[in-house]
Amino acid sequence: MSRTQLVILGSGTPNAEADRAGSGLAITVDDCPYLVDCGHGVVQRVVEARAAGIINWSTVDLTHLFVTHLHADHTVGLPDLLFTPWIHGREEKVVAFGPRGLKDMVEHIQDAYSVNTHEHISAHPASPGGFMADVRAVQAGQVYADDRVRVYATRADHGDMEAFSYKFVTPDKTIVISGDTKPVAGFADWARAPDILVHEVYSSAQFASRPPAWQAYHSTVHTSTEELADLAKEIHPGLLVLYHQLFWGRTAADLLGEIGASYEGPVVSANDLDVF
Ligand SMILES: [Zn+2]
Ligand SMILES: [Zn+2]
Repeated sequence: MSRTQLVILGSGTPNAEADRAGSGLAITVDDCPYLVDCGHGVVQRVVEARAAGIINWSTVDLTHLFVTHLHADHTVGLPDLLFTPWIHGREEKVVAFGPRGLKDMVEHIQDAYSVNTHEHISAHPASPGGFMADVRAVQAGQVYADDRVRVYATRADHGDMEAFSYKFVTPDKTIVISGDTKPVAGFADWARAPDILVHEVYSSAQFASRPPAWQAYHSTVHTSTEELADLAKEIHPGLLVLYHQLFWGRTAADLLGEIGASYEGPVVSANDLDVF
């Protein structure tokens, strides 16, 4: 079995969809997960994946988090990530990497849940540290390394907020995750020829139907199918995985058709609990 797997936990966007949790995926090396983003429902997806036999690890193994940016669809699951695995028995602090502002966000969450925390520590057999997080601000370059993985970041362009793309280099795979971003000069060189490129996308075909104000927004902070096809031609990923898909009424097959119109490499449209 491959040492490294990519588990899609949530492929959703701010637009609530019945079958998609908020943004979140796990890169696992020897069943040790490294979580990227934590939108709504991501911890629940871990429980579901475990129950379905899709993964061999569980919520208590969620100890490393890499946040692409602070939009709610990527971070609203943070309280769940801090407190639920703790109640399940996690003893280690979470080590969380992300943009400036993540530390404040985590501290505010800890304050908001202080009644819960004090009660659990005094009345339950919970470890004193399993709900805490050691938050580290990310800069472009190598952000983390252990004996399973090296993690690199580069700046994404997602409007007026700090945002990052991440590259995970493991013993048997290189996986690049775009995060939310419009195409960035230099990204193709940075990402070059990974085994898997996980990239956000919106439908070029449906873009014209969007209200002008939303067109102005999406075209400056996200990536269209046409733009992604051009990027993929430069990057040559072993597999292109579409996620954070803004369908706007189109289907996965439609998006794959839009990409495939000018890109001939292997491409799939992610669903929650897919494993690559
Ligand atoms: Zn998003
Ligand atoms: Zn965003």
